Amino acid sequence: MFCIKNNFNKINFLNYLNPYNIKLELDRYIIGQTETKKIISVAVYNHYKRLYILESKNIYLEKSNILLIGPTGCGKTLMVKTLAKIINVPVIVVDATSFTEAGYVGDDVESIIQKLLHECNYNVELVEKSIIYIDEIDKISKKTDSISGKDVSGEGVQQSLLKLIEGVNINITSLIDKKNPQQSPQVFNIDTNNILFIVGGAFSGIENIISNRIEKDLSILDFKDNKNIIFQTNTEDLINYGIIPEFLGRLPILAKFLELNEYELIHILIKTKNSLLKQFCYLFFIEGVEIKFTLNSIKEIAKIAVKKKIGARGLKSILENTLLNTMFSFPSKINLKVIIIYKEVITKNKKPIFIYN
Ligand code: ADP
Repeated sequence: MFCIKNNFNKINFLNYLNPYNIKLELDRYIIGQTETKKIISVAVYNHYKRLYILESKNIYLEKSNILLIGPTGCGKTLMVKTLAKIINVPVIVVDATSFTEAGYVGDDVESIIQKLLHECNYNVELVEKSIIYIDEIDKISKKTDSISGKDVSGEGVQQSLLKLIEGVNINITSLIDKKNPQQSPQVFNIDTNNILFIVGGAFSGIENIISNRIEKDLSILDFKDNKNIIFQTNTEDLINYGIIPEFLGRLPILAKFLELNEYELIHILIKTKNSLLKQFCYLFFIEGVEIKFTLNSIKEIAKIAVKKKIGARGLKSILENTLLNTMFSFPSKINLKVIIIYKEVITKNKKPIFIYN
């Protein structure tokens, strides 16, 4: 869970933010996904404009929650967290698989608001302007048992989420304060109308549904040349995947993320703020050793991540695995000054070059 507790700042929003500036800020943290960043910048800007400007003029604009689709490790969660920082509102990230439909044992969907309320120190105004990201939404798709014909999946959870994401007034009981368990819980009335809900998932396997549809639709040519067929997803495909139409109806903005390519992964490794390579270099630097990566070695790390289809999420484990022996041995090497990582250290597990004083 991730939450910013800063006070929400309407003046800043009105004076400094517009979709162009939001995208520029996103560009500082998120590599690639250019079209998606544009869609999201406009959607988020309109959401907060509706909240800060239009409502004060008594103009009602319907809420536009957002659905993110894209493979694992391509920046969906990062995008949501970064947006919250830019707009300066709290954000909470929850996993759709942790919910059960009303009446069953487990977390009900209202526990999302309960956690958020707790994270926001029971500041209702702040809660009502937050962003809630529900990840792994594809894991609660509707699946029907082929023998009994019964719903064996998340359709009930999707149904339970409908009202919450559309906008509802609910009473939420405070969590028990572990430091003060005798204190009786308080009840808070929360209006979810202005909470921006973003849901996301990898929707693995949706490519087959899309290509089946496109094959039937002779008006769309060359789809087979399109590596990122996910960009062609439409609501029909999502319904076929098992997202119920009523749920989709409450998510009018569809933002698709592409698989990150080798070039983008290299960029993420080297250039992003607090990039992984900078972090690794720092680990060595604090022990007085400089570690250098040749460009070819960095390319190989990116290639492995592309091949394994793990996106940027996998870069860290690739680095950890390939540098394990080096990290094991270097602190005990006396007078070690520089370590050079070249291509074969990554591809063939060869020893790095050690340069001593
Ligand atoms: P997911 O799409 O599965 O939600 P995340 O946003 O959690 O992926 O990405 C995992 C990590 O990988 C991020 O914390 C970030 O370090 C890195 N990452 C992923 N995509 C990008 C991107 N497009 N630009 C920069 N870093 C990224």
